[in-house]
Amino acid sequence: MIFSRMTRLAILGFSLFAASYGADLKNGEGKMDGGPMKIYKGQCYCASIHFEAKGEPLFTQYCHCNKCRLVASDSKNPADKKGYGFTAAYQTKNFEITKGKNKLISIVSNNSRLYLCSECKALIYGISEDPDKQEGIGINVNNFQFAEGIPTSFAPVRHTWYQNRIINLDDKLPKFKDTPKEQFGTGELYE
Ligand SMILES: [Zn+2]
Ligand SMILES: [Zn+2]
Repeated sequence: MIFSRMTRLAILGFSLFAASYGADLKNGEGKMDGGPMKIYKGQCYCASIHFEAKGEPLFTQYCHCNKCRLVASDSKNPADKKGYGFTAAYQTKNFEITKGKNKLISIVSNNSRLYLCSECKALIYGISEDPDKQEGIGINVNNFQFAEGIPTSFAPVRHTWYQNRIINLDDKLPKFKDTPKEQFGTGELYE
């Protein structure tokens, strides 16, 4: 059971989650040891669309790819204008649009369907177009409304597509030229 879940998550490119957060995975459903499962709420910049994510993210990462930048360039949210995307990986079943579903529009880019607010153009989430890879989604972290600042579970683990960056970032996170192997990339690190 656990093995099959880990295998499926690995197929989704979430094997890093399995390796680093194995304890949480065994607990299931993203629940942390002992405590009740947290609900993280968010909304787009114009508040037309509200959503909830159950439990902690599988991981979060910064992405410098052209797709992330292009999508963000239309957003009215200044937080989206940093020159790179900030995405939280969740299991799809733990994500729910709670208001404004009818305000969602979607575009397809690189085999991913990206859902945006039709009013403020903020990216809400993205999911693969491949039916076999729809167990996980990427949620735009900039829309979360954290009561007490960003939780440690949302600390990004890496930069992806750093070779396409428009801004240099001086942090200690691994900087992948494209993406890690578990996300179907070369796994090469930028020196
Ligand atoms: Zn909006
Ligand atoms: Zn990207």
